[in-house]
Amino acid sequence: MATKRNFDPNEKCTQAIIFCRVSSKRQKDEGVSLEVQEKTIKQYCQNKDFNILATYSIDESSTRGARKEFHKMLDFAEECYGKVAIVVNYVDRLQRTYTDTPELERLRSTGKIEFHALNENLIMTKDSPAIQLTIWYMHVLMANFQVNHQTEKVKASQKENWGAGKWQGLAPIGYFNDKDEDRKATVEIDKDRAPIIKILFEEYATGYHSLQSIWYKARELGLKSKEKNHFENSPKFGKRTFISRNQIGAILKNPFYYGVMKIKGKLIPHVYEPIISKELFDKVQEVFKSKSRKVFSHEQEYKAIPFAFRGLIKCDTCGCTITPERHNKNDKKYIIYKCSHLKGHCNQCNVNENVLFEQLDKELFSKINIPTKILDILKNNVQKNMEESATANANIKSNLQSELQILTNKEDNLTDLYISGKIKEEIYNRQINAIADEKIRLEESISRYKEITKDIKDTVESLLDIIGNLSNIIRNASPNKQNKLLRLLITDCKLNGKELKYTVKAPFDRFIQCNNPTQWFNNPTQDIDLYTNIADEVKLVKEQILLAN
Ligand SMILES: [Zn+2]
Repeated sequence: MATKRNFDPNEKCTQAIIFCRVSSKRQKDEGVSLEVQEKTIKQYCQNKDFNILATYSIDESSTRGARKEFHKMLDFAEECYGKVAIVVNYVDRLQRTYTDTPELERLRSTGKIEFHALNENLIMTKDSPAIQLTIWYMHVLMANFQVNHQTEKVKASQKENWGAGKWQGLAPIGYFNDKDEDRKATVEIDKDRAPIIKILFEEYATGYHSLQSIWYKARELGLKSKEKNHFENSPKFGKRTFISRNQIGAILKNPFYYGVMKIKGKLIPHVYEPIISKELFDKVQEVFKSKSRKVFSHEQEYKAIPFAFRGLIKCDTCGCTITPERHNKNDKKYIIYKCSHLKGHCNQCNVNENVLFEQLDKELFSKINIPTKILDILKNNVQKNMEESATANANIKSNLQSELQILTNKEDNLTDLYISGKIKEEIYNRQINAIADEKIRLEESISRYKEITKDIKDTVESLLDIIGNLSNIIRNASPNKQNKLLRLLITDCKLNGKELKYTVKAPFDRFIQCNNPTQWFNNPTQDIDLYTNIADEVKLVKEQILLAN
């Protein structure tokens, strides 16, 4: 799709679109609310004499289809007459993954659209020098790391719960989700349905049932779904319906009922009351086994094993996917990649994974560096952000703490009143409970604010870590992580004989060029003295990073 030529690429930009976004409730509370963002940007547009064409404010914690809104904004920008500036408070409001890079780049490079990020003091136009572009993408990279870091944290807490034998999510039928005395999520036995589940296991264990007949049995016993029918056109809308035949199969194979939960293929004991014994469960599985010839699909089990290059490479000859396979030869384990051409009519040879890694190591991993100049700019920005958020956190925290103190005083007063007989027990209990709830909420908030600066620090550290030490990191990572890192670095991979053809993704493509640092800048004669030593400095920084590890 070509940008419509409804503008002169060299004209001065006189109009703007305001773009604001909050992604979580926490951001809203921390003073980066949409209103605050909008106000700052408006002020900026007025100073620049920009005519404001539209304002897009997206609250991702409550708006569905936030991405759709984002693209609507880009479409609008592209279609309006003349050059347009998209103005944001932070780079990461506009972009925090590389998914949108091609589209944003197309709009920027033709001169149709400029990006203004106020906090980072970046204005990206079609004439922006390479160093500016790189700084922009470094910010995207950091935002991306932060998103991933957050995801990791959620996963870690999930793992912690699982480790403690706690189920996350909807309880299986026969149980229901509840809250315990500490208001933490728990799972309780459903006294109506659990006995029916037990009978179904016992019946099926006899071996006299088919899935069809055990399903009839379940209906006869009145086993109905926990959820009400939500299809408005259905005659049973709003009612609980009998469970389906497929569900019966799933119930009879679910080990949760005897005391373990199946998470990502692993069995972990849970802390809730079992409905059946393990013996009964095993007996039922035996019956299943004897009834079906194919116990499990070999292919599906195989697919779950992670490989570094899985899903990344296509065959250059025939275009089919290149798939990994484990091999054992003379007690040596190795991984080969081969063309998945259906009839094998392809000339592509099999390639050992090590060969691919060696090539990438030589051409890519060992060459990725950041010039000190840019590292410094980044470090300063990060430092500044960290200090700002530390101050903001300290303020919020001290406010929360004084709120907590007020509640503690209230509690004391209330107790005094109760002891001296001035209020009734009933009122005392009700109020003291309300205060206790509120205190827990506050304490939780306070503990959250301790972590934020550390979060940011971790993110930055892992970022510097990765860039300075890529070869080592990739070599020692698990196949799963290798795969993720490779996806971050390269795209469009094709295997031709033993050689891998690939494209390095932005911003990493620019780091490779730093053997010749002048290429970083559009005008190499300018400030040449300042940059001639960059290559040496880069080496030094890299050594320092390696030492620090
Ligand atoms: Zn092929």
